[in-house]
Amino acid sequence: MTAPEADTPQDEPGHPRSVDVNNTQGDGACRNDRADRVQLADKSLSLYVLREHATNYAALFARARAEMGHGQCLCQTPALRLVIRCSRAGRYHLAGWPGEGKLHDPSCSFHKLASELTGRSAYSTEAIREDDEGVAIRFSAALARKLRDPEPARGPAELREGRGRRVVGLLGLLHWLWESAQLTAWHPRWRRRSWWICHMRLSEQIFGCSINHENLADILYVVPPFRKEYARRNTAAFETFLITRLKQRADAQRRGLILGEIRDISPTRYGVRYTLAHHRGALFATTALDERLRRSYRPAFSNAAAEHGARRIGLFLVELSPKGNVKVVDMAAMLVSELYIPADSSHEVVMANALADGGRAYVKPVRYDGSDLVFPDFVLTDTHPHSYVEVYGIHGRESYDERKRVKQAHYQSQRAGLIEWEVAKPIPNVRRR
Ligand SMILES: [Zn+2]
Repeated sequence: MTAPEADTPQDEPGHPRSVDVNNTQGDGACRNDRADRVQLADKSLSLYVLREHATNYAALFARARAEMGHGQCLCQTPALRLVIRCSRAGRYHLAGWPGEGKLHDPSCSFHKLASELTGRSAYSTEAIREDDEGVAIRFSAALARKLRDPEPARGPAELREGRGRRVVGLLGLLHWLWESAQLTAWHPRWRRRSWWICHMRLSEQIFGCSINHENLADILYVVPPFRKEYARRNTAAFETFLITRLKQRADAQRRGLILGEIRDISPTRYGVRYTLAHHRGALFATTALDERLRRSYRPAFSNAAAEHGARRIGLFLVELSPKGNVKVVDMAAMLVSELYIPADSSHEVVMANALADGGRAYVKPVRYDGSDLVFPDFVLTDTHPHSYVEVYGIHGRESYDERKRVKQAHYQSQRAGLIEWEVAKPIPNVRRR
């Protein structure tokens, strides 16, 4: 059993610590008391309270929807509109207004980078559709297969097309979850991020979403943070997932998704065994699959990042073996920093840590399934306009390096600030001057 991490319920980014008068970093980062205050009809309240107790505020949500048609985020003056969503189960929640994410304060829960800085913009509305009920995702992999049918080939060809992707692949889904839960962002006003926070933010995000017309919350098991007092409840929840989601029905083998932090990968007689942080059971993969995954997600499997406090996140597509073991059918892996910010290499982990230690607010753009998309390595959101961070490792891919050079020329033409780090040299000072 994995030891619990020292995280506490109040360490939650939707509920940032109050303005820290003892902050001596002198970073000049935004300190906005109004971030995470929202208005529904004539009432102003904390987003944290609203999320925690959404059912208690159902009448207020309904009134705001009837009177104004939307909620308001108070992080800016004038206030910004928020979509009021109501799931089919009748639970309300707030979402950012389409296209307005970049107008919110960088410390606000509804802040998003411009659409040209996310792999999400490569999908058609058929792949990711947002409406008043929530988000509907068209996922590339089948979530059940007929037992007599042969194993399906890898994802459909349309997944590998350029713009206008019509389905979301496993890595795309992982990046969508991370970005939507704002785990690609860091702000010095937020308390230290733990798996407790990741789990909470992801659970909020999943709520009301569907994947291939099924409730995402039923399909996806996000490993809950270990707490001794909740251990029995968590074990029961996982058992329920195994029985209600993965157990064979008639002639169909059903599949589900497990999302967690990979703690260890060890060889077995037939392949490998994954153990996850905070989770008691193991997941099993064949040697052939393990080899493919290691090739596909090289940074996540490299040992270089471990010494910098990096972690590995895995989104596993699983089914139950005849013996009742959890068998991995496919997986997407992501290297993340100590604060769970995604990174494309161990050098980016070092940079992500340095930016956080330097009191910077930043976002890591993520590519989803678009492996050829080129983004800045990090976007600093505490400068106006935003500035960029580039980490130069050894890519060795000419086409990629060429596109990167074009991007750099683009930043320069925008007169945006740029911090550059050639990894063979010492890391530059990243604190704000
Ligand atoms: Zn806001």
